[in-house]
Amino acid sequence: MDEHSLEMGLRRALEREEFFLHYQPQVDARTGRVEAVEALIRWLRPEQGLVSPALFIPLAERTGLIVEIGDWVLRTACLQSRRWLDARLPPVRMSVNLSARQFSDADLAGRVAAALDAAGLEPRDLELEITESMMARDPEAASRILRTLRSSGVRLMIDDFGTGYSSLSSLKRFSVDGLKIDRAFVQNLPHDRHDAIITRAIVGLADELGLDTVGEGVETPAQRAVLSDLGCRLLQGYLTGAPQPPDALAERLSALAAA
Ligand code: C2E
Ligand code: MG
Ligand code: MG
Repeated sequence: MDEHSLEMGLRRALEREEFFLHYQPQVDARTGRVEAVEALIRWLRPEQGLVSPALFIPLAERTGLIVEIGDWVLRTACLQSRRWLDARLPPVRMSVNLSARQFSDADLAGRVAAALDAAGLEPRDLELEITESMMARDPEAASRILRTLRSSGVRLMIDDFGTGYSSLSSLKRFSVDGLKIDRAFVQNLPHDRHDAIITRAIVGLADELGLDTVGEGVETPAQRAVLSDLGCRLLQGYLTGAPQPPDALAERLSALAAA
């Protein structure tokens, strides 16, 4: 697909309402209870079908469109949380991915506050996922924005921890609430000895630093068992729930309420 046509499509996608969100559960490794959900954007492009965010997010980032798209994601995810609360479903934290460009927007904290306000949510109902690459442009400004956000009570998580985008130095540079262990380490558990050692070290480090942990991309019971044994607190992956439309997630939450 050529980039120009993709960009033209992307420019019109917001006004044509071609985006929607799926939500993927993050479950407590011990109890299986859904504690949070991650909002993941989907683009249904007419005539072409679903386009992967891995394909269009980087382009949206390069063109600056991500600022508007990211704001839409934030507002839509918060309003969805409000709908679930109004339907008397058990409260779950909403986790939203941020991208680098959103940090060049001086008013990011204002946009976050406005999204919470419009949905009548508290800051602690929201979590933002960041990666180290976001800090690259202007680390000073980004770290200031992160501090403002965190002091308002919004939770911050480092996404894809351990990969090129999020390394140990991010722990020192950002003040965060937890980290998400990248799927690259989880996928070869329990067979790959190195990945098991690395995962154990990440969980140990997080514990010592008082940080929460989420294992990403959990697909098998064996992976779940290892992560849980290592003390990883939350699990996210196809095994415990794929990204799904809001109604499917509501059903899962209401089953939880009945249990
Ligand atoms: P991410 O934030 O690390 O999200 C996790 C990705 O792993 C999602 O891919 C999810 O569908 C996928 N995944 C979840 N469980 C499993 C599993 O068990 N196995 C495998 N193989 N994959 C699993 P998705 O939805 O295609 O999103 C890809 C990336 O695009 C995200 O990675 C995130 O970086 C970005 N993205 C998605 N939505 C947004 C958004 O609203 N804003 C921004 N800025 N980026 C987004
Ligand atoms: Mg994420
Ligand atoms: Mg991730």
